[in-house]
Amino acid sequence: FNINMEQLQLNEELGKGNYGTVKKVLHKPTNVAMAMKEIRLELDSAKLNAIIMELDILHRAVAPEIVEFYGAFFIESCVYYCMEYMDAGSLDKLQGAGVPEDVLSRIAASMVRGLKFLKDDLQIIHRDVKPTNVLVNKKGEIKLCDFGVSGQLEKSLAKTNIGCQSYMAPERIKGESQNNLGTYTVSSDVWSLGLSIIEIGLGQYPYPPETYSNVFAQLTAIVHGDPPELPDDRYSDEARHWVARCLAKKPEDRASYSELLEHPFLQSDRTRENVDMVGWVQKALEYRERKLAKEREAACNNHLQSA
Ligand code: ATP
Ligand code: MG
Repeated sequence: FNINMEQLQLNEELGKGNYGTVKKVLHKPTNVAMAMKEIRLELDSAKLNAIIMELDILHRAVAPEIVEFYGAFFIESCVYYCMEYMDAGSLDKLQGAGVPEDVLSRIAASMVRGLKFLKDDLQIIHRDVKPTNVLVNKKGEIKLCDFGVSGQLEKSLAKTNIGCQSYMAPERIKGESQNNLGTYTVSSDVWSLGLSIIEIGLGQYPYPPETYSNVFAQLTAIVHGDPPELPDDRYSDEARHWVARCLAKKPEDRASYSELLEHPFLQSDRTRENVDMVGWVQKALEYRERKLAKEREAACNNHLQSA
């Protein structure tokens, strides 16, 4: 079916990214809760139409590890993109309470299966693997979103802010500085996958801004330094080895998705049927709620003191 704005009831904001805002919406005709992303683009309607048509391929991206796509439309110079609402949000917001190894292994397995599906069935390279693009629901399901299907959309997104957290592989950082943009392969996604798993396990981005005085120093560390590792006090050698297979500095040395799926870190996941994903999501959400409440209280106290 075709979605349009008249059918939607707009609800609360779920988050903001570099290019737009994501809102929770209700699709009134079907009573389905959705997440709607608004991307502001200064383009003519022919280009916007091309983007909407390119996004249509997303209707074929149906897999348990992929956030479902419901449809897209444009109004004036904004593209609106409607997808499955994931009621526990993105992984970057759930990692604070700690992620036990069996849960981390489930997350890693879902991500690899999702990426492998995109590549094998749709010939799509994700290009933006990072914790904010890994979504979770209260059923404990882990799904990927925001993969690059539209060349036109990618070209149109103003790369104004590469952000203070780069998940780009070393060869991409080098390639971009040489103005060589055609070098993206699956192995660059494998690097971003490894880095995301470390961030989720560590509870923070592995090249923290406190350590690097500026973005240039951070990018230099990614290109020339040793790759980061999972902490050995919390994770097994198997888990650490798996991540190291993603974070080989040379793209040709990195593991393939099949190798990653057959690795003991994910194989033991398959036999461990009773990983309590639902319980973990619930705990992580409660932890986040408590943290937000404390922050609100602190902000309120500051406000009272300064008044
Ligand atoms: P970037 O702009 O670099 O992609 P981002 O992924 O954080 O960064 P958005 O994709 O715009 O930015 O998403 C903003 C936030 O909205 C996400 O961090 C996530 O928490 C939330 N979000 C996005 N999609 C959904 C969804 N389908 N269900 C629930 N929450 C979502
Ligand atoms: Mg995103």
